[in-house]
Amino acid sequence: GGTIGILGGGQLGRMMANAGSAMGYRFIALDPTPDSPAGQVAEQITAAYDDREAARQLAARSDVITYEFENVDADVAAMLMSESYVPQGSELLYTTQHRLREKRAIEAAGAQVAPYAEIRGEEELREAVSRFGTPCVLKTATGGYDGKGQWVIRDIAECGEAYAALSRAGTQLVLEQFIDFAMEISVIAARSANGEIKAFPPAENIHVENILHLSIVPARTGESVLKEAERLAVRIAEGLGVVGLIAVEMFVAKDGRLYVNELAPRPHNSGHYTMEACRTSQFEQHVRAVCGLPLGDTALMSPVVMVNVLGQHVEPLLERMAVQDEASERLGVAPKVHLYGKKDAVFKRKMGHVNVLGPTVEAALEWINETKIWKV
Ligand code: ATP
Ligand code: MG
Ligand code: MG
Repeated sequence: GGTIGILGGGQLGRMMANAGSAMGYRFIALDPTPDSPAGQVAEQITAAYDDREAARQLAARSDVITYEFENVDADVAAMLMSESYVPQGSELLYTTQHRLREKRAIEAAGAQVAPYAEIRGEEELREAVSRFGTPCVLKTATGGYDGKGQWVIRDIAECGEAYAALSRAGTQLVLEQFIDFAMEISVIAARSANGEIKAFPPAENIHVENILHLSIVPARTGESVLKEAERLAVRIAEGLGVVGLIAVEMFVAKDGRLYVNELAPRPHNSGHYTMEACRTSQFEQHVRAVCGLPLGDTALMSPVVMVNVLGQHVEPLLERMAVQDEASERLGVAPKVHLYGKKDAVFKRKMGHVNVLGPTVEAALEWINETKIWKV
């Protein structure tokens, strides 16, 4: 038992609290939005993330502090370390909050990243683009998600416009060579404070407009690529001294080579498939890792496709759930719906996901296709 305090009250916190409550823990989430997704299933302190008094209150009431998003103010995290037990530390946050620091840490752990350069001015950008060749992608070093803060440069003539647009954010900029990938995959690894490490099976990820749409497991690539991906995730977890979860996004190049794209030191959207498809979910594993329990078995029990439910998908999904589903019976699939309790179903907003378990990933993909819910 004991109480786990979570910085952040979004869906990742909600699913963490659901998994950990079943294990006998209590949860308190700190989030500025009243009745947040996690606040609906746990206690909530409603305050800004960087409200020191609220953070201190959270620390006073928690035996362990964790976070569900990576942009936690490093000063707040450091302060909490002196007031409570923060097994993940603040170092990992510091590293993964900044793309340049993150890339250097990935390289130091012995994995490859796409060729990159720090960009400090428009002339430097032009020079780097001509060195890497097009296409390239210019990214803000901090704060980006769902493809925000990025500009794909397809022609060197775009450099001025791209630089002007992204430098407006006032953060450092990074240029990356664009990897002509055959597939995107991710591996989530867990490491506990005593050094035990376990990785989940790699997921094949398909994005639509830079937002994750599908995670397909097993990923439809060679066994040697999958083994290498798991090996890299374990090395990164070790190299960065991770405690808790680390999600490792990778590109599989056409020649089978793996390039790490980015890291997330928390549960990850591409790991939601584990909730029904693995013997241990990523959320249970995270709780185990930060609470110093032995890690759970990560074996896959069934082929699965996770499909994200965005604002525009909620209504057609609810209609579908209310009627006898002939397609799922015919295809032998079991769609498991997860909704996060967010009130306004705004276009493109992540509202939930469905884990479609099936005899094959093809059957699960066929169900997703037949429902027509994800045509918009
Ligand atoms: P997330 O929501 O995953 O945090 P993000 O905004 O941090 O996204 P990235 O993961 O860096 O963005 O990039 C978003 C997507 O853009 C990638 O999943 C990939 O499809 C594409 N992309 C980004 N960088 C590259 C690259 N160097 N080469 C090829 N594709 C890229
Ligand atoms: Mg990211
Ligand atoms: Mg990403």
